[in-house]
Amino acid sequence: MKNEQKVDYKYQKLENKEYDIVKINNPNPSQKYDYLFRICMVGDAAVGKTSLLIRYCDGTFKSIYSNTIGVDFRIISLKSDDKNIKLNVSDTAGQERFKSVSSKYFRSAHGFFFVYDVSDLNTFKNIKNWLSTTKDYNDKQVVNFLVGNKCDKDERQVDYDTALQFAQENNMGFFETSAKDNKNVDEAFGYITQQLVHFYSKNEKIYNELSTGDMYKEQKGEEIVFDKKHTKKTGCCK
Ligand code: GDP
Ligand code: MG
Repeated sequence: MKNEQKVDYKYQKLENKEYDIVKINNPNPSQKYDYLFRICMVGDAAVGKTSLLIRYCDGTFKSIYSNTIGVDFRIISLKSDDKNIKLNVSDTAGQERFKSVSSKYFRSAHGFFFVYDVSDLNTFKNIKNWLSTTKDYNDKQVVNFLVGNKCDKDERQVDYDTALQFAQENNMGFFETSAKDNKNVDEAFGYITQQLVHFYSKNEKIYNELSTGDMYKEQKGEEIVFDKKHTKKTGCCK
């Protein structure tokens, strides 16, 4: 991987993270855009991927989301300085329970949110598997963010510094969030969008390949099986 392709994340404490992206409410559907970024929310079941997306888009939180209520994707309009941006955020909508996620999401993604639950160590350990799974299908340098959700909870199994170190080692941005308490949700989406603009304005070739490449069309509908490839059978799930 070439050095100039590396995404330059600024590892500051959460409250110092700056972004200059504004979410547009009631966007004009015919508004032209400069970038359309596809982001995937990945991570184990029940870490709060759907909750984060719904919190960001609708400003609401429910304590129970059945996996059938999961959204497939949302389109969000944003603006930064002179650029109009659309984010297409894919949510795995319950498929992760079966450890099978359609690879078309991964192949054309410009960025990923790797979400774990700070109160569940296993979900953090599994981020390694999610990283290698997504890399198997999309080996380009893309914009990756690690997100430790449910930071409102008292019972914690993953501390901030451990996760930050993991993020740095794997060239990912990092946020702790709470969809429940609305902590750092706007910041995580705003900051990833800012990083997407910075990175892809310098790497147009990758942007175009991800946006228009045959990759997306060719691989439509193909399914990958996550656990067979990357995890040993533990007896807890088939
Ligand atoms: P997904 O399977 O990753 O999409 O997870 P969901 O969004 O369906 O959330 C799973 C469960 O975790 C639900 O009961 C949510 O209410 C709960 N949850 C999600 N985000 C948070 C959070 O930030 N804090 C707390 N305490 N619970 C959350
Ligand atoms: Mg979900």
